[in-house]
Amino acid sequence: MCFGDIEMSKVWFVGAGPGDPDLITIKGHDLIARAGAILFAGSLVSEAVTRWAPRNCEIKDSKGMTLEEITDWLIDQAEKHEIVVRLQTGDPGLYGALIEMVQPLDKANVDVGVVPGVSSAMASAAVGIESLTLPEVTQTVIFTRVEGRTPMPKGESLRELASHHSTLCIFLSITLLKKVQSELKRAGWSEDSAILVVHKASWPGEEIIVRSTLKDIRDKCKAEKITSQAMIIVSPTIGARQWDTLAKSKLYDSSFTHRFRRGVKEVV
Ligand code: SAH
Repeated sequence: MCFGDIEMSKVWFVGAGPGDPDLITIKGHDLIARAGAILFAGSLVSEAVTRWAPRNCEIKDSKGMTLEEITDWLIDQAEKHEIVVRLQTGDPGLYGALIEMVQPLDKANVDVGVVPGVSSAMASAAVGIESLTLPEVTQTVIFTRVEGRTPMPKGESLRELASHHSTLCIFLSITLLKKVQSELKRAGWSEDSAILVVHKASWPGEEIIVRSTLKDIRDKCKAEKITSQAMIIVSPTIGARQWDTLAKSKLYDSSFTHRFRRGVKEVV
């Protein structure tokens, strides 16, 4: 097995994926299998991900810990073990306090590595058999959230971002659906715009998929009692699987020439 740069003691921030333990990367899996210590966010990461850990591995749930307690623990463990793993939900670089944790480790001269993970945005699109981009519909995806206790930087209100009419993957906002609805309407989205909400995407036996419109999404989510861990995808691509007319991707167009294939001119 090739571990490349896995030689010296290091704290690895590993993306555990959205829920299904099988959605972790091979690199993440191999680090877990060799870890001396693992800290996982029990409220969001399935403990099943730690099942590949060695028998003597120290495994701790960070659910009740403060940021300082987390980084102190990681620094301590890095003194004892070559490989220390901090398991993060989805991808560590999205709404995961990655930099806040890395800075104290840098100060303590602890080497750090990051292994990307499957974000819940991608998992939610996947379980809905949806494409976040489509030719001539939208070629842009925005990852965002609605302003709650965390303020949004200037120019990033949902209304402003939604005015592009591209795909929006809205994190951390399921309890703010009323605001999502009003901001989207103010940005010009019609009441019958299709919306997909996925609760616990990929969690075996726990996933709930809700398909609705801008008008009804809040009522539907209420009926399903979804109050946490949900992805809201608003996109002009939602439901395209059922469309009769679909602009085809240039890449597979017989008349399109690219690096690996010469296009054939159509004779009219
Ligand atoms: N780093 C994570 C996001 C962490 S923020 C990632 O890349 O996915 C937590 C938010 O992510 C939740 O409020 C919810 O909006 C979303 N989320 C996390 N796991 C999810 C899942 N399995 N299904 C749907 N949404 C999820």
